Amino acid sequence: MRVAFSACLLGDPVRYDGGAKPTPEVLELARRVEAVRFCPECAAGLPVPRPPAERVGGRVVCSDGIDVTEAFARGAQASADRIVRSGVSLVVLKAKSPSCGLNVIYDGTYSGKLVSGRGVLAERLEKEGICMVCEDTVKACKPSVEHPVAIVLGTGLGHLKNLVHPVRRMDYQDIEGFPLDARPIADHSFEATVGTIDEVPVVVYPGRIHLYQGYSAAEITSLVRHAQHLGCRDIVFACATGAVAGQAHTGLGILTDQINLTGMNPLTEGEGKRGIETPFVHMNDAYSPYLRTIARGVADDLGIAVEEGVYAGTLGPCFETPAEVAALRMLGVSYVGMSTVCEVIMAKALGMHVLGLTLAANEAGATATSHESVLAAAGQHAEDFERLVRGVLRLL
Ligand code: SF4
Repeated sequence: MRVAFSACLLGDPVRYDGGAKPTPEVLELARRVEAVRFCPECAAGLPVPRPPAERVGGRVVCSDGIDVTEAFARGAQASADRIVRSGVSLVVLKAKSPSCGLNVIYDGTYSGKLVSGRGVLAERLEKEGICMVCEDTVKACKPSVEHPVAIVLGTGLGHLKNLVHPVRRMDYQDIEGFPLDARPIADHSFEATVGTIDEVPVVVYPGRIHLYQGYSAAEITSLVRHAQHLGCRDIVFACATGAVAGQAHTGLGILTDQINLTGMNPLTEGEGKRGIETPFVHMNDAYSPYLRTIARGVADDLGIAVEEGVYAGTLGPCFETPAEVAALRMLGVSYVGMSTVCEVIMAKALGMHVLGLTLAANEAGATATSHESVLAAAGQHAEDFERLVRGVLRLL
């Protein structure tokens, strides 16, 4: 996987004061990918050291009053051209900079005040559709013993639990809010494992309950609240789905967004609302663009066939009618299943970073669909699924 980095984050002394801003988590990521480094201000031919600059309206002005708008535009264009030519799929930018900043930048008063906005390079790259993050995202997604990665597994995917080097096991019955009468279906198991996969701290939940079993949205999301309580910031949801013909094929998929067709929402219920700052949760980027891009890059590197698409969650338990499948196709849905959407809403409400992976075991609406056929399809893709998850964990 090829990733471009603001050079100062990798320790290059290119900042205005002649220094660098090396960030351990970013350095670690750079060591594990094919790293491309850039500095737009150096590409513009600006000296090091140089007076600091900030964006003022549409212009860039140095602290000594010199207007450097043209130079910044030249450097940003040269760096953007290089990044695009390099074929990178992810760009890690230095936060707040007038060139590289993303989302917030200094306001032009040299008082340390921040305003929403982008650096000149980030503006250029936005048009290219390349995933951009700043170092804060890389840091926030970095797993540790305090912040393990939660992995919730669906039908046919529970075998991943065998990869865990266990430290502790927990019966779901001891998880607050999990229904005491729930019994696992098919290959699910109701024992979470805290441990490591390839030395990355994880908590694996090898089974879940569903709305169609009669449980509430608050109950089915109790595992998510539990994971967050344990300190998990990243959460991987893996689910079995049907592929909507014309939109996706059977096999592995990365979820890009979701449509909640269950008619339920955990944030409307007492237990589901507990600990939530506000139920009015923004659902933009519900599936983390950073984690999705990492998953895509891992799949490409390892030669794993993976598609991407929107997931629609239905109440179930019956499968979709031909008319429903046609409607889902018109809505732009690639995968349809009976889980995940409420869990993703809960994870977003708790500020977690979500990666959604699916095994499309059959075509949506296929008449021969059964738990057995899902398990058989899962068996065919088990090795690729494991390689994909391990590859993602290695890069976090
Ligand atoms: S222009 Fe970007 S890479 Fe260069 S020093 Fe500033 S933030 Fe770092």
